[in-house]
This record gives sequence, structure tokens and C-alpha cells, in this order.
Amino acid sequence: MSVENKVVVITGASSGIGEATAKLLASNGASVVLGARREERLSQISQDIINNGGKAAYRVTDVTDPEDLKALVALAKEKFGAIDVIYNNAGIMPTSPISALKTNEWNAMIDVNLKGVLNGVAAVMPDFTAQKHGQIITTSSVAGLKSFIGSGVYGATKFAVRNLMEVIRMESAQEQTNIRTATVYPAAINTELLQHITDKNAKQGMDKLYKSVGITPDAIARVVNFAIDQPEDVNINEFTVYPTKQG
Ligand code: NDP
Repeated sequence: MSVENKVVVITGASSGIGEATAKLLASNGASVVLGARREERLSQISQDIINNGGKAAYRVTDVTDPEDLKALVALAKEKFGAIDVIYNNAGIMPTSPISALKTNEWNAMIDVNLKGVLNGVAAVMPDFTAQKHGQIITTSSVAGLKSFIGSGVYGATKFAVRNLMEVIRMESAQEQTNIRTATVYPAAINTELLQHITDKNAKQGMDKLYKSVGITPDAIARVVNFAIDQPEDVNINEFTVYPTKQG
């Protein structure tokens, strides 16, 4: 079973990496179910996909609410009759030094980047376990592999999902449930991610880096497509994606 005919739920699908992935997977024959908070964006992206001959549905979803994730998965089953893949991609990155004590932003990152992924996992696990088939893909970050100044809490959430995904992979093998996992570690990808950085120095530094080396989100869409496209007995587990010009 390749990408074609798979039903894929994508969070953070209203812009950037999620939008690019939804469009690519749909163009390769997947049915995509989009979740995020901005309805206008979701509606437009779904319409674009349908206008191009693809299959798409959307639901306004806040990943911090477990019930929203359950409803998004229910929509996939209702509309397309199955759930094969969830791509936990929604995330926020308001980086700042720890000494700035932006504790509201710390909590928001934990809620979206970590609890949001857990809510996605919990929403699909009953179906995946029962059907002995499924794939959980999550966007971590290179900040989930090594430490960066300013990324103390952002990196903590991204390190955490790395561990979560690896344990799901190991437990799936132990329980023989055939649940595949893939974790993506992007470096600088030009999206709307930097817009929410409130720390002036952090924002300036990031803007400079992304302007000089950033690449388009299609790079991530292609690797997610590749992971889904593998035969069921092949689990492409981790991808690190750097712009060629980023050190
Ligand atoms: P964008 O800001 O373009 O996309 C983020 C997406 O997450 C949006 O669709 C946004 O939708 C959604 N989102 C944010 N909060 C919530 C929420 N509470 N509930 C539901 N959806 C939410 O940035 P990217 O595409 O770059 O980000 C995608 C992922 O990639 C993130 O996890 C990010 O950490 C990760 N990443 C990105 C890198 C980059 O360089 N761009 C590098 C490494 C990792 P809405 O606002 O409509 O809810």
C-alpha cells in the first residue's frame, strides 16, 4: 500500500510544512484531512486540493484539546472510511533565553509541541491497535537533536517527542501491532514559524539565518511522502533535513 489511497490526518495543515505536505500527498492520491485553528486557510487549502482533482476535508482543530483530535480522526473515518496515518506537525517556536522568563510561552510550547503530539497519538492509537496497521509521523526539529541558545524550552519539547516516537516504535514491535513511526528533524525551512517570536534578539537572529539559508517546505513534504510510500514492513524511522547552505 503506497501513498495512493491512504487516509492521512495532518495537524498544522494551515500553513508551511503541513500545507505543503497535504498538497503533495493529495497530488499523489492520498485523502488528506487537515487540522489547525485558522478556518479560512484550511478551507482555501482544501478547496485548492479538490480543484486539482484531490481528496481533502478539514476541521478546525486546536491540538491542545484531546477532543478536537478525536473529532479530526472521526472525520477522516466518516469522510474517507479509514485512518492510515497521522502527521503530528502543528508546532510553535517562540524562542528566547531562559533568563527572559517568558513562562507563558514555555507553557504554550509544552501544550502545542508536546501535549498536542500526545493528543494526536491518543486519538489514533485505538484504531491503529485494533486494525494492526497505522503510521504516526511527527515533526520534531534539529533542536530536538542538539542544543541551541534560545531554544531551551522549544528544544525540550522537540527532544521529548523524539523519545516518545522511539518508544512507540519499540512498543509496537514488541506488541506486534505494525504501527510505523517516523520523526522528521527539519533545520531552517521558510514558513510562518518565526512570526510568533516575541524576543527581539532571538527574532533578529532567526530572521537573518532563515533569509540567508532557508529552503521551502516542499523539502519536508517529500520526505514525509517517502516514509508513507514504503512497504508496510519498512519503517523509515528518522529524517534530518538541512538546507545545503546551513552549517
Ligand atoms: P508554520 O507556522 O507555518 O505552521 C505551524 C502550523 O501549526 C500552522 O498550521 C498552525 O496553524 C499550527 N498550529 C499552531 N498552534 C496550533 C494549535 N494549538 N492547534 C492546531 N494547530 C496549531 O510553521 P512550520 O510549518 O515551520 O511548522 C510546522 C512544524 O515544523 C512545527 O512543529 C515546527 O516546530 C516544526 N519545525 C519547523 C522548522 C522550520 O524551520 N520552519 C524547523 C524545525 C521544526 P493555526 O495557527 O491555523 O492553528
